Amino acid sequence: MNIFDDIKVDKIKEEFKEILKSENIRIERIVSNGQTSEDEFWYDQDENEFVLILDGKAILEFEEKEVVLQKGDCFDIKAHIKHRVKYTSKDKPTIWLAVFFTNIKYNTRTKLLRKLMRIAIIGAGAAGIIAAITAKRENKNLQIDLIDYNNGIGKKILASGNGRCNISNTDVKVENYIGENPSFVSYALKQFDFKAFEKFCKSIGLLLDIKETNKVYPLSNEAKSVVTLLESAVQSLGINLILNTKVEDIKKDDDKFIVVSQDKELKAYDKVLISSGLAAAPQLKATEDGMNIACKFGHTFNMTYPSLVGLHTDFEHNNRIQGVKKRGKYIFIYRWTKRV
Ligand SMILES: Cc1cc2nc3c(=O)[nH]c(=O)nc-3n(C[C@H](O)[C@H](O)[C@H](O)COP(=O)(O)OP(=O)(O)OC[C@H]3O[C@@H](n4cnc5c(N)ncnc54)[C@H](O)[C@@H]3O)c2cc1C
Repeated sequence: MNIFDDIKVDKIKEEFKEILKSENIRIERIVSNGQTSEDEFWYDQDENEFVLILDGKAILEFEEKEVVLQKGDCFDIKAHIKHRVKYTSKDKPTIWLAVFFTNIKYNTRTKLLRKLMRIAIIGAGAAGIIAAITAKRENKNLQIDLIDYNNGIGKKILASGNGRCNISNTDVKVENYIGENPSFVSYALKQFDFKAFEKFCKSIGLLLDIKETNKVYPLSNEAKSVVTLLESAVQSLGINLILNTKVEDIKKDDDKFIVVSQDKELKAYDKVLISSGLAAAPQLKATEDGMNIACKFGHTFNMTYPSLVGLHTDFEHNNRIQGVKKRGKYIFIYRWTKRV
């Protein structure tokens, strides 16, 4: 290939093209057309990043300085140095060559891999379960307590897709997400795209049925089988489940965390991961406690909005329209010719 092949002028989204990837190094060509990082968004990467501007102009912002990069300029960004893209040329594409690399001996991840740590994960929904499995697979020395208010794990997964669990979509991309921080979506999808998700499913023995519409379901067509396979992965890895426990607070005692529930205090955690979801489906013990607790530690969150909502009616043929999905600004339901 030639590095300048097929340069697009796309004012909506940046193009990230992977040129080379191996265990410790990843090279990308990035084409920006005036795009910048979202307000308040900072990259905080595990990898070091070396950038070279092949054409155009950009300004990188760091916590205490700005760096102007013109054609031919290069810059080395060490892992976990917070930075954001403040400016890229609007009149012509800015072409970056970005080399991401890890320092095998000393990087944080390697240190974490060896370390013996106690971790509390609050919320055993899809996010918490997968985080627990992934962390334990990476480091067998972790002692993980997976804590949930419910009497079992993955209750919302069981209710999803009308019990069939529309588990993913092959066409997962940034443009399909609504939100105030597309840079985060882009970052998250780079770490865990559909291929990575498919690989994870395979690793727990979950076979997928990919429909022509790009929708993805478990091959069994049952949400129950998804939860059963996740449960058995959790058990076989020795992750400790603490159920029927509503976390009410998290406190800090020197460098350790204490997780406080109604009737007990769980002590001496090195790290706490809050994955307690949002308020949709309160009958499944959904709460926003996690967000409120995180705020106590200085975190902030963007406003959340319902995106798919249930319809409550008071007429007796509810079951006939159960599961029907419709797209549209206005939706009317008729019983015979009468609008209800
Ligand atoms: C009816 C329904 C159908 C859906 N269908 C689909 C679908 O087909 N496809 C799809 O992709 N998505 C679907 N979704 C959305 C999907 O289920 C959720 O986005 C996903 O399950 C969220 O996972 P999570 O781990 O972030 O949060 P959750 O699943 O909400 O998990 C959070 C966990 O934290 C626990 N918790 C909360 N507060 C506390 C506390 N204070 N202490 C201890 N534990 C606490 C809760 O009990 C819960 O188990 C559906 C949602 C619903 C409600």
